[in-house]
Amino acid sequence: MTTTPLKINAKRFHHMVDTMKTFGALPQGGITRRALSEEDRAGRAWLSGFARSQGLHVWTDPAANLHFSLDDRPACESQAVIMTGSHIDSVPEGGYLDGTYGVLAGIEALLSIRDAGITLSRPLEVVAFTDEEGRFGGMLGSQALTGLLDCEAARSFEDDQGVRLADVAPGFDIDMNRLADCARDMSKIAGYAELHIEQGPRLLEEQAEIGVVTGICGLYKLRIQFRGEASHAGTTPMHLRKDALTGMTRLHTRLPALIGAAPEVPAVATIGFVAVEPGAANVIPDCVTFTLDLRHLDLDALRQNRVAIETLVQTIARENRLEAQCDILSHFEPLPCNPDIQDAVAASASNRGIAAIRMPSGAAHDALNFRATGNVGMIFVPSEGGLSHNTKEFTKPEHLEQGVAVLADTLLAMANGASS
Ligand SMILES: [Zn+2]
Repeated sequence: MTTTPLKINAKRFHHMVDTMKTFGALPQGGITRRALSEEDRAGRAWLSGFARSQGLHVWTDPAANLHFSLDDRPACESQAVIMTGSHIDSVPEGGYLDGTYGVLAGIEALLSIRDAGITLSRPLEVVAFTDEEGRFGGMLGSQALTGLLDCEAARSFEDDQGVRLADVAPGFDIDMNRLADCARDMSKIAGYAELHIEQGPRLLEEQAEIGVVTGICGLYKLRIQFRGEASHAGTTPMHLRKDALTGMTRLHTRLPALIGAAPEVPAVATIGFVAVEPGAANVIPDCVTFTLDLRHLDLDALRQNRVAIETLVQTIARENRLEAQCDILSHFEPLPCNPDIQDAVAASASNRGIAAIRMPSGAAHDALNFRATGNVGMIFVPSEGGLSHNTKEFTKPEHLEQGVAVLADTLLAMANGASS
């Protein structure tokens, strides 16, 4: 470990941030830069050109993931590499930082390590993953690279306007027949660390500037349905109703107490989509279908909470003379961050006099797909107002710079450290 902390080039880093935020810029601030759009194309072209002008090797794979390294492609693909990255696509009316920050920070980390004349035992590789935000399904690029993408299913991926991935793919040099070739030998990815804005309020609330991420929360997305009986809104007395909506509202009110009770770290649960049938002002609803998004960092706690919710749904159904059904729409297990990476992040922050706290990530990130490496870490910087996926998303420049410096230190520790 060096005694004088590595210096990053803040001017060069902000030049990248300020230029990238022009691609897809909105008049009210923020960006719309959906994956594989013309805005995305312009951003990719500029960033590739800039990185090359700084002496980096730049290449794309068959999923249009953009790779950057001080080493050439064969070196990165044949040796055990340390990888970092994120995504440069945005949600509609999103912020200019989100994933772009992690990509630009990775590039600046490589350049400042090179400028400092430090030799690396393992190559460092930065990747801007295609379509993290889900224009065509979500995490397309990082799933392809880690071999987790269903390449056959990808042929029929469409966006919300009915545009097919297969149709825009050729314009971005995505080869639908060779998507599987993106998959890297996971035993040769020695570690993956991702820097991201927090997208929540905790760091600012706890007056910390760096979040040492302890893991990415696991998730259950449930579809719950209550069924009752449709009837006239004017003629059916309240006590004789079988109102399906009552089931959902009773559940919703009881959720905070239910999931907040058990472990010391409470789960979070959200009912984010509701469909009421038949959906008329003068008819008592006979069917309510809704989603419930449940997250927790601990797999056992996550499962216990799911079972508790399913049990409560049945209890509420009985109490209200309704029928109920719960289905699991999707599930992924929590991903604990490697303790050595957590310690490297914490040590960097402490060497630099930056206040850090350990915290889980409630949001999923490209990092999730690197589970098989057994060596994943994440770093957070504050989000002003806790806002993200919002044009008002903002992080103070000095916080951004601190994140880049801590990422650079962490990548160095991973590339030159003893453990793999
Ligand atoms: Zn993101």
